[in-house]
Amino acid sequence: MPEIPELQHIARVLTERLAGRTITDIDIQKPIVIRLPREDFEAGLLGAQFRSVERTGKFLLFHTNRDSVLAVNPMLNGRFQWISGPDGTRKSHARTCFTLKFQHDQDQGDEELGIRYIDERYLGKVYLVDAEDLDRVPVLNEQGPDALDPELDEAAFLQRLKRYRGQVKNALVNAKFIAGIGNAYSDEVLFNAGIHPFTKISTLDDERRARLYRAMHETLNWAAEIAAEEIGQKIDRKPRDFLNVHRKGGQPCPRCASAISEVSPNRRITSFCRACQPA
Ligand SMILES: [Zn+2]
Repeated sequence: MPEIPELQHIARVLTERLAGRTITDIDIQKPIVIRLPREDFEAGLLGAQFRSVERTGKFLLFHTNRDSVLAVNPMLNGRFQWISGPDGTRKSHARTCFTLKFQHDQDQGDEELGIRYIDERYLGKVYLVDAEDLDRVPVLNEQGPDALDPELDEAAFLQRLKRYRGQVKNALVNAKFIAGIGNAYSDEVLFNAGIHPFTKISTLDDERRARLYRAMHETLNWAAEIAAEEIGQKIDRKPRDFLNVHRKGGQPCPRCASAISEVSPNRRITSFCRACQPA
């Protein structure tokens, strides 16, 4: 699932290319992902312009000039792709859910400009709401502060952590605790913090709690730079090869060279180094 490092960059690219362009065409292939009547979706977006695209947690929020917001919860696989140009593909993807086309200027040498939303499992959810009703969007309205929210400083993070029980990895992937981190980056954060993923939060001492907060910031910022580089304009990509431990089971730990462990309780793959992250 896309997480902060990718979504951060994708939101920026979408803003750069789409802001101020009028939506001229909407083609809905799989209405199941759109959580409102298709006529309302079409009428709400046709002729509108996106002002900016913002990321919060794992949501992408497309703000329009009609004071409405297209809120996209990509879940496991949802993603956007350009429909033309060197960074996209004209051939429609079999799992396209909907396509938006934007005003382009052929006299200026502009080629067709548009995005398609693809989702193999149709698990993603797309909403169109008035900006003032954003707090009615499911999941979004329950999520805690974004992991990179400037107001979530170390003291605020530690305060929130006190309210959570159970295993530390479960808390990190829980959007109600903090939003934007999923399975991949929770593994990376815990590796960088030197904390075993199944550690009970109640057993973490102050020093390890502080280390967790710092590792979260360092890991997300480090990965965001690399992800931006690797994604470029190819906004459907989700580069993960550069990660230290996630999905690297059996490979040598980059820090101590012992084999990385991979286990999957609750059908969620967790990768970690037993030497660097002792239980
Ligand atoms: Zn190690």
